[in-house]
Order: sequence, then C-alpha cells, then structure tokens
Amino acid sequence: MTNQNVVVPESTINLAITVAVANSSIFSTAAQKPPAAPGGYISISRKNFLKNLEINGGATINALVDSMRASSPTHHKSTPSLVDDQTSWMDQHPSALEMFEQIIDASKGKQIVMFLDYDGTLSPIVEDPDRAFMSKKMRATLRKLARCFPTAIVSGRCRDKVYKFVRLAELYYAGSHGMDIRGPVKGGSKYKKGGGAVLCQPASEFLPMIDEVYKELIERTKSTPGAKVENNKFCLSVHFRCVEEKKWDELIQQVKSVIKEYPKLRLTQGRKVLEIRPTIKWDKGKALEFLLESLGFANCSDVFPVYIGDDRTDEDAFKILRERGQGFGILVSKFPKDTNASYSLQEPNEVMDFLQRLVEWKQMSLGEEASV
Ligand SMILES: [Mg+2]
Repeated sequence: MTNQNVVVPESTINLAITVAVANSSIFSTAAQKPPAAPGGYISISRKNFLKNLEINGGATINALVDSMRASSPTHHKSTPSLVDDQTSWMDQHPSALEMFEQIIDASKGKQIVMFLDYDGTLSPIVEDPDRAFMSKKMRATLRKLARCFPTAIVSGRCRDKVYKFVRLAELYYAGSHGMDIRGPVKGGSKYKKGGGAVLCQPASEFLPMIDEVYKELIERTKSTPGAKVENNKFCLSVHFRCVEEKKWDELIQQVKSVIKEYPKLRLTQGRKVLEIRPTIKWDKGKALEFLLESLGFANCSDVFPVYIGDDRTDEDAFKILRERGQGFGILVSKFPKDTNASYSLQEPNEVMDFLQRLVEWKQMSLGEEASV
C-alpha cells in the first residue's frame, strides 16, 4: 500500500467567489449589484472579482446572495433571448450523447480514464443532502464502467460518505474536493502497477481547525431554519437547499462571522452550498493530476481522461484537461453556464446513458479484438 502525504504551499487567497449573472457586464465597483439572473450564466473572472470586492463589506454579502440565487436555478424561463442563449451555448457545448461517435474517435488508441463528480452528476440534488442516493441502475452502470476503465469519484463530500453512497470497492475515491484520495480497497487496482491503495491527504494539518470551525458553524447557524452544516473531514459545507431565500444573507453573515477568525480557511460557493476549505493550492484539478500520475499516466500522450461534473468546483478539473490538451470535460447542466467543459449532459439520467454507451462500446471493441 502506498501511503503518500503531499504537502503543498498555502495560497494567499482567503476568499474566492464566483458570481453568475444574466449578462456579461463586469461590475466596475463592489457596490454595483448584478442584474437578476433568470437562468443565463456568465461568470466574472476570479481575479477581477477579488480585485473589486471589499471582503468584509456589505456589498460582498449582496454579491454572494445574488450568486447563490443565480447558481441555484429551479426553472428555465423561455424568453426569446434566453432561448437564443441556450442554442448558442449548446453549439459550443454540444450534448456528449449526440457527439458520442466523435468522442470515441478522439479516444482511439488511448486509455480512457473516467472521473465523476457525485452530487448532481451521479445522484440528483435533493433537499436532504444525507439522502442524495444514486439509483440502482446507476450503481450497476458504474460497476460495469469500472471493469472497462479506471474510474474515480471526485467529490466535495467526505470520502467515507461518498463511499457509503456509491458502495463500490473497485473505484478510486477523492473526497473533500480531492484532499483525501484513496484507491480501490479490495484487491488493489488492476490498472496500477503493484496494486494497493493510493493515499493522498495534503491538508492533514487542518483537521483540528476544521473540527473546531464545524462546531462553531453549527452553533452560529442554528437560528437559521433549514441550514445544514456538513463536516467533510478536510473541508466543510453549509447547505442552503432548504433555507428560505430571504434568510440567505443572514446565513452568509453567520458563516462569515465564523470564518473571519480563520485566515487559513476560504469560503467558496457551489450549487446550493457554501464551502469552507483550507487555503492550500489543491482542488479537483490537482486531484485529477495526482490520480493520473498514480495510474502511471504522468507523462503519457496515450491517455484520455474524461471528467463529468456539475459544479463550479469541477471547473478546476475541466481547466486542467484543457491545459493538458488531453481528454475533455462534460458539464452536467440544463442551463447555459460559463465553463471550461467541452460537452454537456442535462442531468444524471443522461450521465448514466453516456456511461452505458461507453461500456457497450468497450465491450463491443473487446469482442472484435477477441474475434480477430
Ligand atoms: Mg456536484
């Protein structure tokens, strides 16, 4: 078994927020409010946004509430301009199901490696995050997928929790946004030379701090009905799926009042969730690179990584794939969003169909090889 603790330098950024708005205008000052966002998404670059924000000012709260609203759409308004937006977005990020043949052609002669986010990708986003179960059919599909390709689940959740949802010992698991990585627990991996579990925990030193902040957040947010704090071991989530929209600013105030005492932690926002993470330079993209290296594909040109995810945090992985010029990202979304992914799928059911087609293609090609 490999037991590797990776130490990474701290970043100086304490707070990073991505804001989704209805058009492409960038706020010139922090006081400017973004327009209402009925469904379209254009994100402001993190650099510009940080430059303009007063971290502890009131405008930050407003911007964050608007961002929460925009990133948690519940319906799609069919105004003509949005239909046009959707059409042009789909031209740039076509359905991975419709482009299946082209995708397979691009992977010819290369080893496909699968990376899958969990919430909103394999399981639907449900009101109670503890009940985000995936379907039996999805589990069966994942099992077949892992027989065909090295497969990793990459999630913001605690690794143990994701494992309890997925319950497949043959997969790789990267929990806490990739800060807790483990390889297949049963019988090692057929892909990694020598087998055995990979272990990477670059934020171990933050464990006591995360526990402390977890307790404080529970205490501080208990007056906000519906708020749910989740301890993901190396990071924390404050779910606002069940919090009334008029209470969102109050919730942010509560979270920020805790976080401001911890400059080594940063606050980001995902799909119906606020995330609190150590300020280390480690994310889902780094986890993807770590896993590729662990699988022996560090400097290989014959690898074809495919990453499927639905959240802002998955963009780090999409970006790495673009930079490497290898494989591609698939964004799971019903709505246009600014993304580094190349293709799109609308919902977990479409993800399952795509994975199933990959399995069928692989089984067919193995059958053809065997008959030659
Ligand atoms: Mg997700």
